[in-house]
This record gives sequence, structure tokens and C-alpha cells, in this order.
Amino acid sequence: MSKYKRILLKLSGEALATNSNTIDPDTLNQVVNIIKSALAKKVEVGIVVGGGNIFRGAALAEVGMNRVTGDHMGMLATVINALAISDACKRVGIDALVMSGFPIGGGVCDPVDHNKAKQALTEGKVVIFSAGTGSPCFTTDTGAVLRGIEIQADIVFKATKVDGVYTADPTKDPSATRYKTLSFNEAIEKNLQIMDTAAFALCREHNLDICVFSMLENPNTLSDILDGKPSGTIVSQ
Ligand code: UDP
Repeated sequence: MSKYKRILLKLSGEALATNSNTIDPDTLNQVVNIIKSALAKKVEVGIVVGGGNIFRGAALAEVGMNRVTGDHMGMLATVINALAISDACKRVGIDALVMSGFPIGGGVCDPVDHNKAKQALTEGKVVIFSAGTGSPCFTTDTGAVLRGIEIQADIVFKATKVDGVYTADPTKDPSATRYKTLSFNEAIEKNLQIMDTAAFALCREHNLDICVFSMLENPNTLSDILDGKPSGTIVSQ
């Protein structure tokens, strides 16, 4: 029995990509297996997915695009990723529901509704939140915390390429060490660049812990953490 009953899993868009594929089918299946293992432990799973494998507003603005338009494109990219995850879930018999932070018609997905989301979660469905916060100039990390608060998640799991938060970038500085725990204030003051300040501030205000961990390096990591085996870095009050 996991100590967490309901989790919000934040996946970056890049977690679905490889060098040759924007959305890689094998990587997608790996992600689905990880979701499945959490559901098998009777843990309710909400997901927020990013869009960085397709578009990021800041990068589009750098090449001259209007920032708000770029952010709209970035948020639409997250909808594409959410649909891909939902489809991959359904193919293996996991019921999934995609919700969007801004209205999208045509039966593509539902608007975010925290009550409907919570109901779906209690029925064992995976709820995939797309379009971040629904507003430009935010990130999907902030969107993840926001949705985590809305669905009353016990914790936000942020999957990254490295297995936690380090004192410096471990790919550049071999003396960097991993924090097992950190406070929100420390994370903000040290400007550790794992999540933006808005996301940390929201977590701090609502006392919602974040666990930063590496997902694809070892596909059992999330399952192990849910079983009570510590891994990654916990950022808390
Ligand atoms: N975005 C936005 N508002 C939000 C969330 C995302 O405008 O609330 C846009 C922004 O342009 C961002 C892009 O969507 O760069 C993709 O999200 P993000 O960069 O957070 O994706 P990730 O890095 O997690 O793949």
C-alpha cells in the first residue's frame, strides 16, 4: 500500500522524445508502463505534460515571434502530447481523460474541471491535464502544481533527466552532490532551476511536496518511491 493515494506526475515534453522522434512510440510505451505500475498500487494518477519537444514560447520569441502567440503554440503542443499519452494508455486498457486549460472544441478534449477530474481519478482513470495553466508566460511546471492543488494530490512528482536536485549541474561539475531534501525557500533562494519560482511559491503556499526524480533511466524508480523506498530529492516546507 503506497503512502500516496493520489499523485500528480509532471512529464516534460522531452520525456516523450528521442533524437529522431518528436513522440517516440517506445518511449511512450515506457511511460505508460510506469503509469500502469502506479495504478496497480491503487494510486490515483493525474498527469501534466509539457510541450518542449514540439514548441516553447521563449524559443519562438527568440527567433522573432510574438511571445504570447509562441506560448499559445507551446500550450497547443502540450495538447498533442496529452492526446498521445491518452491514446497509448487506452491501447493497453487504461482509461484516460484529457483536459485542457483552455477550451478546445470538436470533441478533442474536455476543459479542466477539478470536480470531474477528481471523480475520474477515484474511478481509476488517468487524467491528463494539457495546456499548462491555460495562460501565456507560465510553464507547465506551474501548471503541474496548480493542477496538483486542484485535485488535492498528495505530492507532485517531477520527472527529469537527472535523479534529483544537485548542488550544481552534475553533467558539468563532477563534484556536484544530490540533495535528499530541500525546503521551498532553499530551492527559491539558491535559484536551482529545477522548477520556476512561481511553481515553488505555489507549492510553499499550499504545502504541496515535490519529488524530483529520474524516470526513464530506471523505469522502476517511481514504483520504488511509491513503495516507500526514497529516491531523488523531496522539496517540502
Ligand atoms: N506554456 C504557457 N503557459 C503555461 C504552460 C506552458 O504559455 O501555463 C507554453 C510555454 O510557451 C512553454 C510551452 O507551453 O514553453 C511548453 O511548456 P514547457 O516549456 O513547460 O514544457 P516542458 O519543458 O515541460 O516540455
